[in-house]
Amino acid sequence: MKKVNNFIAGEIKCFSQNYLPIFDPSKGEKIGEVVNSNEKDFAEILKSAKKGFNEWSEFTPLKRSRVLSNFKSIIEKNISTLAPIVSEEHGKTIEDAKGSIIRGLEVVEFACGIPHLLKGEFSQNVGTNIDSWSIRQPLGICAGITPFNFPAMVPMWMFPISIACGNSFILKPSEKNPSCSIKLAEMFLDAGLPAGVFNILNGDKSSVDRLIENSEISSISFVGSTPVAKYIYEKSASTGKRVQALGGAKNHLIVMPDANLQQAVDGIIGAAYGSAGERCMAVSVAVAVGSIADKLVDKISNQIQSLKVAPWFDNNSEMGPLISKDHKTKVEQYITDGVEEGAKLVVDGRNYQIQGYENGYFVGPTLFDNVKEEMKIYKEEIFGPVLSVVRAETYEKALELVNNHKFGNGTSIYTSDGEISRHFTTNAKIGMVGVNVPIPVPMAFHSFGGWKDSLFGSNAMHGVEGVNFYTKLKTVTSRWPKSINDGPEFIIPVN
Ligand code: NAD
Repeated sequence: MKKVNNFIAGEIKCFSQNYLPIFDPSKGEKIGEVVNSNEKDFAEILKSAKKGFNEWSEFTPLKRSRVLSNFKSIIEKNISTLAPIVSEEHGKTIEDAKGSIIRGLEVVEFACGIPHLLKGEFSQNVGTNIDSWSIRQPLGICAGITPFNFPAMVPMWMFPISIACGNSFILKPSEKNPSCSIKLAEMFLDAGLPAGVFNILNGDKSSVDRLIENSEISSISFVGSTPVAKYIYEKSASTGKRVQALGGAKNHLIVMPDANLQQAVDGIIGAAYGSAGERCMAVSVAVAVGSIADKLVDKISNQIQSLKVAPWFDNNSEMGPLISKDHKTKVEQYITDGVEEGAKLVVDGRNYQIQGYENGYFVGPTLFDNVKEEMKIYKEEIFGPVLSVVRAETYEKALELVNNHKFGNGTSIYTSDGEISRHFTTNAKIGMVGVNVPIPVPMAFHSFGGWKDSLFGSNAMHGVEGVNFYTKLKTVTSRWPKSINDGPEFIIPVN
């Protein structure tokens, strides 16, 4: 049985003897253990990250970029090694795991441009013979805390950019699937990254609390559920840290009567049931506007009956299990609650059995119609393969639903009307908006982040927002007077 330890100063080691179980969600079996770090692990990691920062921040941006470029090549060669590690501990299909690694790799690719990204601004003669310029300098030791649903991609939203900016980094991966992070750390070391620049601290809430309470850590990047995001934002800010904390979601996809129906149905099914709905950009609410509702529900319900639910190692699998037994129970309870609240259960995914994998944490694709705003299944994030269809009479009512919801991660509209689409992209109170695109996840050179209860803090992840988050701005004003001596000035200088 595998044991996952920490990555400290370029070595796999740990001091704690306390371990947490790791499960294979497809089989419902324990397959390994991950260390639950103690105070000594944390102290050693901090020492390592301090040393790493001192050495790494002296590297020129171009030298750092070359190490990142090597790292990119190593990941590219190893996608087929990393993907099964992700799938085994998460349950997602192998192609989906590969896709998620590639989306993370694109952030590394973006970070290779760091010499260009760190170029500051320069103004000559802001006053007579006075020049002014700005530079961006690293923060020091940065930390990232990541969720279970993207064990490769979400950490890669953070550490490549932070490290490219000259910081050292401590990653606290999800304890449910920690193995991929260790592999990434080994690959980065092989790429030429000095030991101590990238460290992995494994464990549960106790490790998170050590990170957010420590005053030597300059920033916290968090991705996970909203209650934890809020806790981390408040606690980290109280110790003077810079913090970005991304939370949960309830993404609405609006289908207008003039939409291409088949395109909308395919978009919704992929986005609602892909990765068993365990994506923060999953579509969990389809808002059917006007006359399209009956046709939409019929088509989705027909198509999902033949969706292939299977373990990741079945090449035909389109959707795998949920992450844990507890989560399966929670999702099934939501379905029961939906029925009790009066929503119409069109397809029921409860008690889903796959021959040979009866202990796996599978829930079948589930579809509700006639879901109402006041219902729990509408208000809360379910994070499973459960799609709610809400019927709205008009576009205005549909937009109101999107804007009144407490979450603001992603949304999308399917329509053939340019005016409606422009109105929607302008007026939706949501961080990431799609038009005829079901999952509008921004590429690495844009930035990822929601609004409202989906993001606490002012910076989104990666792209230029990431560079700004992981650097401090300094503005220099400079004059070289040869022989002028004006004496002291008691009024603020003006031009
Ligand atoms: P989670 O909040 O339970 O855990 C995330 C991380 O926080 C883990 O590393 C975990 O160890 C730690 N943690 C858990 N409870 C904690 C506590 N009480 N105090 C301190 N730390 C704690 O989230 P999860 O279940 O791993 O991931 C699913 C959630 O993440 C969903 O809500 C999903 O929407 C969200 N998510 C959001 C985004 C986004 O970009 N907004 C992306 C991916 C996932």
